[in-house]
Amino acid sequence: MKIDTVCVHGMGNSPDYTGAVSAPIYQTATFAHIAVGESTGFDYSRAGNPTRENAEELIRVLEGGDGAAAFSTGMAAVSACMELFSPGSHIIASDDLYGGSVRLFSHISVKNGVEIEYADTSNIQDISACIKKNTKALYIETPTNPTLQVTDIAACAAIAKQNSLLLIVDNTFLTPYFQRPLLLGADIVIHSGTKYLGGHNDTLAGFLVAKDTDIIEKIRFIETMVGSCLSPFDSWLIIRGIKTLALRMEKIEENSKKVAEWLKTRKEVKRVLYTGFEDHPQYEISKRQSDGFGGIISFETTSAEIAVTILNNVKMIYFAESLGGTDTLITYPFLQTHADVPEKVREMKGINDRFLRLSVGIENSDDIISDLEQAFPL
Ligand SMILES: *Cc1c(COP(=O)(O)O)cnc(C)c1O
Repeated sequence: MKIDTVCVHGMGNSPDYTGAVSAPIYQTATFAHIAVGESTGFDYSRAGNPTRENAEELIRVLEGGDGAAAFSTGMAAVSACMELFSPGSHIIASDDLYGGSVRLFSHISVKNGVEIEYADTSNIQDISACIKKNTKALYIETPTNPTLQVTDIAACAAIAKQNSLLLIVDNTFLTPYFQRPLLLGADIVIHSGTKYLGGHNDTLAGFLVAKDTDIIEKIRFIETMVGSCLSPFDSWLIIRGIKTLALRMEKIEENSKKVAEWLKTRKEVKRVLYTGFEDHPQYEISKRQSDGFGGIISFETTSAEIAVTILNNVKMIYFAESLGGTDTLITYPFLQTHADVPEKVREMKGINDRFLRLSVGIENSDDIISDLEQAFPL
């Protein structure tokens, strides 16, 4: 099956006795036992639920893993992943990670004795230089948020293998439709299902997919213990969302190219970051490891006043956090997602008060561009 078909049929085609084409939502907390010592395979929904298993199976097949676990949010998946490491472990992470992950690392992982060291993972030498005797994992996001730096996944996998590290990739931005890190040598893939997988800005979800069933067993043990699992209804929303993942990603990318090109023509815009530009520093790596460039565009205006005016003036486009849905959203990383990132790091990355991030939706590109056009100051 090709990937767009997997989006529709990936969890298998076996309707129950009614023939229902849409898989049922098992909205139940517990399951009755047939007799003492006999179980249907389900006991209690925190430990396992058929609707959640359907969602997990779909993501597992899409990412090409051996097992998957569905969580209540992306952060719950990141948090479970960090529980794999004992005190004294050292982890190298991309220095432009999702703000929530950085917050979790500095408030929880550090307290648990796990040391996180940030490196520019788009530069392979930078990674090698950070490896120590107690380094256990390499945690990357590619492309990064919001500066859209790209890391070579296969090169990281080679370093990880040589040094017995786990390679963890947050694949939220490109989704398995455009990028499948496990097939490039990664060990674990993490998703915020809240974004493109769900795709409609209407539900929170998270996933962890692994190549190795031992890892998934440990993750399930942690998830069942702490209770960070995805609810039956939200599992169903994700399954439903993924049915149109291929269509949405294609349309989003088509729109993004047009919007990014248009932004380049504006005199109020100093620079536009989009991985699909041929002059993007890692354009060749993107082309090699991904089947598409996605729908995130960041841009720097020439003044903070212009940035604020755009945010205040957009009409159809929502000024809202998050990304990956049908609706175009614009965010101000400086005040929103990256407010907790130390100022020095933020400045170095160019995430200043002139910097905006767009998550392009599936509307008509002309309407997205005209809304931006009317939002720019006269
Ligand atoms: C949103 C996001 C997360 C966290 O996911 P939630 O569903 O909001 O908990 C993690 N990583 C990336 C790249 C994200 O964009």
